[in-house]
Amino acid sequence: MARNDGVDGLAEVQRLAVLEDFVCAAERCEDTCCRGWSMVVDDPTASLYRHEAPELEEALDHTAVGTVMRRDCTSDTCVKLTAGLCGIQKQYGTAFVNDSCHFYPRITRRLGAELHMSAFLSCPSIARLALFGERPFVHSGHRVERLPNKVRDILPEGLTPKEGASVIEGFLALAGDPTSSPERAMVRIACVAQSLQHQPPARWAEATPFLIDSVEDRLATAEADAADPHRLLLALAALAHAAQHPSGERFQETFRTMEKALAVRLEPSSFALMRLPGPVGPDDAYPRLRELWQDAAPRMAPVLHRWLQAEIDSSAFPHAGLGSNPAERATILGIRFATVRLALMSHVADDGTPPDPDTIVRVVQSLARLLDHLAEPELSLSIYREAGWHREARLRGLLDDAPGWAGDALGPRRQFLPPSPAVPVSTISTA
Ligand code: SF4
Repeated sequence: MARNDGVDGLAEVQRLAVLEDFVCAAERCEDTCCRGWSMVVDDPTASLYRHEAPELEEALDHTAVGTVMRRDCTSDTCVKLTAGLCGIQKQYGTAFVNDSCHFYPRITRRLGAELHMSAFLSCPSIARLALFGERPFVHSGHRVERLPNKVRDILPEGLTPKEGASVIEGFLALAGDPTSSPERAMVRIACVAQSLQHQPPARWAEATPFLIDSVEDRLATAEADAADPHRLLLALAALAHAAQHPSGERFQETFRTMEKALAVRLEPSSFALMRLPGPVGPDDAYPRLRELWQDAAPRMAPVLHRWLQAEIDSSAFPHAGLGSNPAERATILGIRFATVRLALMSHVADDGTPPDPDTIVRVVQSLARLLDHLAEPELSLSIYREAGWHREARLRGLLDDAPGWAGDALGPRRQFLPPSPAVPVSTISTA
C-alpha cells in the first residue's frame, strides 16, 4: 500500500528530537491509548479491509463521527488489543494498521512543502521524555516509509516554510527561556500572539523577533480574582463533561487531588462545588497552596518550561491548534497552562516537597488526554471569556505573575458556606 509521497518510496520529515527516544510501552503502558478512546479509521484502511481482509470489518464501528475501531465493552479498549499489543499489527502487519493507531502519539503537519512531525503529551511515554528528557525541542530531517493519508497544511499565506518554522521556533525559545519564570514565559507568549494578530501573516516572520524583544514593555498589569482557582476546576469539569471524557482512574486521581487541595468537592448532578469539611476552608486553600508552591516552584520551573515547549511544538503554535487565530490559541494555551500548574500545585506535599516524576507524568498526561483532544474551541473559549481570562491582564492574574504578590492583593474573597451539610458554592453552565 502506498503510504508516502516520496519519489524513492521514502519521505523527508522534520522530526521532533524527543521522538528519537520514543518506544511504545505496549503492555507496560500506564494508560493505553485505545482505552476509552475510539481510534478513527481512515478511508484507505477501511477500503483495504473491505477488499483484502473482510474479516477485519467486524472490528469496525460506523458512527456519526466516521468509522472507528470497535471498543470492547469490558476493557473499554480496542477489540483488537491483546496483552497490550495491537492484534492487527501482529497478525496482518503494519500496512493494515490505520493511521491513527500507527502514528499516535506522533502528529504530522505540512508547512507548505515541508513535513513536520511532533508528539502529544497524552501518551505517558512521550510525557516522560518531553518533561524530563535531555533532547531539546528541535526538529531535524529524517526519511520515513509511511505518512498519514491526510496531512494538513498549516502554513499561513505569504510565509515560506522556513519563515513559518522560524515563527514557531521564536515561541519555543520564549517558552523555554530559563531567565524567566514559566508563568512570565506564558504571559509573554500571550502578549506576542495578541500583537501578531494585528499584523498580516506575511509579516509574522519579520515581526516575531522584534515583538519578543520588546514584549516586557507591553505587558498588561495583572488583575487577579480570588475565585479563579475554583473557576479553573469547574472549567475543567465542564470540558470533561461536554467532551464525554471517559475520565479514567488517572484523570480522576488528578481531579480529586485538585478538589482536596482547594477544599471542595464537585457535585456532578448539580455541577456545584461543595465545601469539604476540614481545618482549611476554600477561601484559605489557594493562599496556602501558593505558600507551599514558593518552595516547590524553582524545582518545578524546568518541568513547566518543557510543558510549554511541548504544547507549542505539538500544536505548531501559533499556526494551528484549538482556536481560529493566534490570540484565541494563546488564550486556550494559557488556560491549559494555568490548569496544569494548579494541578501540580495541588500535588505538592504539606512540607513543600514537589510531586515525584511519576506523579508529574500522571498529572500532565491525564490532563492532556482530555485537553489536547478537544475537537472544538467554542465551549473552552466561552467559559474562558466569561471568566475574563481571554484578556492578558486577567491571564496574568490567573498565573500569579505579579511582582510582590500578597493574599490581600487578590481583592474581595468569595464567600463559601459552612462545611456541614455540604452546600453548593459555585456553579458553571455547560450549555
Ligand atoms: S499511550 Fe503511548 S506508550 Fe501507551 S500504548 Fe499508546 S503509544 Fe504506547
